[in-house]
Amino acid sequence: MNIILLGPPGAGKGTQARQLEEKYGLVQLSTGDMLRAAVRKGEPLGQEAKAIMDRGALVPDELMIRLISERIAQPDCAKGFILDGFPRTIPQAQALDKMLLNVNSKLDAVVELKVDEGKLVERVAGRFTCAKCGEGYHDRFKPTRAPGVCDQCAGTDFSRRADDNAEAMKTRLKAYRDETAPILPYYAARGVLKAVDGMAPMPDVFRALEGALGLVV
Ligand code: ADP
Ligand code: ADP
Ligand code: ZN
Repeated sequence: MNIILLGPPGAGKGTQARQLEEKYGLVQLSTGDMLRAAVRKGEPLGQEAKAIMDRGALVPDELMIRLISERIAQPDCAKGFILDGFPRTIPQAQALDKMLLNVNSKLDAVVELKVDEGKLVERVAGRFTCAKCGEGYHDRFKPTRAPGVCDQCAGTDFSRRADDNAEAMKTRLKAYRDETAPILPYYAARGVLKAVDGMAPMPDVFRALEGALGLVV
């Protein structure tokens, strides 16, 4: 099963994708995580992308299309994947169609996480991640059980994203409205678009997502 999770920054795409990966063995493909890894490793792609990401703008389509087409062709993706953060523009959506055709695959569903834009700055401002295992947390909505200790791996190092601030969020939300939201009708026209309420508590969002994907009866 190949799925796209769509929604503005902070909608909960990463949180839900991680759970789908854990429960159903689908591979989470987060282009944001892939870019941040390239930045950390000092790869040319990272060097090109870093300033753009910090500002909250979109990385050029041709770079993103190359990155994801190489990833989708890897053997582990054959069992199904969840795209989290791609596509973000109409040209990326069109390129994805071509890629899937090339590997004899198709999209099963595109799920929009519907959220109240006014709440998203609080979502991203409180977001932090375990540096060791990548588990995601939130100061208010999902704190660690023991202060300063990761629930999953007992790690004590956490990181916060440079772009999770109010200023970059303005640019990111505008990019979502202007460039990403237009891909919703692109998928709706094909009958694969579903919507889930992303403002509900995390476990409820997950259950609704499973329902929308036909994974539970
Ligand atoms: P995205 O990948 O769409 O940018 P994340 O999954 O990283 O979003 O979620 C952003 C932040 O909001 C994280 O700190 C996460 O713990 C928190 N969060 C995610 N889903 C919910 C929810 N349904 N209710 C409250 N907080 C949430
Ligand atoms: P969020 O979880 O807040 O939605 P991501 O982690 O998906 O953010 O992306 C972080 C940044 O990485 C984006 O603001 C953008 O600069 C860049 N990026 C990620 N995916 C794409 C993409 N498909 N196209 C262009 N830029 C991207
Ligand atoms: Zn951890």
